[in-house]
Amino acid sequence: MDILEIMQALNACHGPSGNEGQVAAAIRTLAAPYVDEITTDALGNLICHKQGTGPRVMFAAHMDSIGFIITHIDEHGYLRFGQVGGLSAHDLPGTPVRFRNGTRGVVAVQGKVEPKDWKLDHLYIDIGAKDQAEAKTMVQVGDTAVFDTTPFVSGRKLFSPYLDDRIACAILLSAMERIKHAGNDLYFVFTVQEEVGLRGARTAAYGIAPDYGIAVDVTDSDDIPDAPHECSSVAGKGAAIKVMDSSVICHPAVVKTLEDLAQARNIPYQRDILRFGGTDAGAIHQSRSGVYTGGISVATRYVHTPMEVADLDDIEACVALTAAFAQAKLEA
Ligand SMILES: [Zn+2]
Repeated sequence: MDILEIMQALNACHGPSGNEGQVAAAIRTLAAPYVDEITTDALGNLICHKQGTGPRVMFAAHMDSIGFIITHIDEHGYLRFGQVGGLSAHDLPGTPVRFRNGTRGVVAVQGKVEPKDWKLDHLYIDIGAKDQAEAKTMVQVGDTAVFDTTPFVSGRKLFSPYLDDRIACAILLSAMERIKHAGNDLYFVFTVQEEVGLRGARTAAYGIAPDYGIAVDVTDSDDIPDAPHECSSVAGKGAAIKVMDSSVICHPAVVKTLEDLAQARNIPYQRDILRFGGTDAGAIHQSRSGVYTGGISVATRYVHTPMEVADLDDIEACVALTAAFAQAKLEA
């Protein structure tokens, strides 16, 4: 499977937190040849099971994206919105957006507010409606919108909206394709509602009761100009093996297993520490009486903006490391 093609297919879907159905349908089709059984739970998590007799391993990649939810339509047909997940006002003006029904628009900022003072309350979405009545035929209060930007490759970098976390969905799909012998009992879980508090991973982990958990996600990249060094990973330096973020301290045995596998297979890797943020690992490791949990991350620039940037060779390293862990001899 080609990573860019998967990203294009998944980003054509509407999938803000709580509305992941289109993404799940697309992934179900792509995953079907590689697993024994695919189920969906009450929250909408897509659970792809490849049977094995060894320890139960749960990989998680979240399908949901951040987005906008319409709260008010004014007399001129402009839309005010709340955030689904974390949006920053400074990243948004000028960004094209798309609703589930295909309605398109752009985020704009109301007049006379200094850029340094921009808050989400100063922004609105213009969908080209001539007035409130016309706007209400196009969009309703409670509808959601997502970034409508287009993925491309330049150099060895992939530019795309929603690398967080569709790139991890693509990594799990590509890893599944490579698994030859499934000694471990493998669950590839495409989770919902990560961006609003790791909600899908919590119920999925409870239902599956894994022995091991690996969350695959993006992590910030410390290589932008004037990088604040709040994180350790850098785009282009290999698969980022999570040690800690604000949601999890990864189990040292899982960190070591991932590092040993990377060394043995010549997979480039780096240790990932993030002084903020979290991933599905935060929910998985606290499930039931605890789960041996780690994380594999893609160092990504501009996380949660309309265009995120990651390195294609890092993505390949993450696929290789995910497939290696899936096939590793693990203690029950
Ligand atoms: Zn994420």
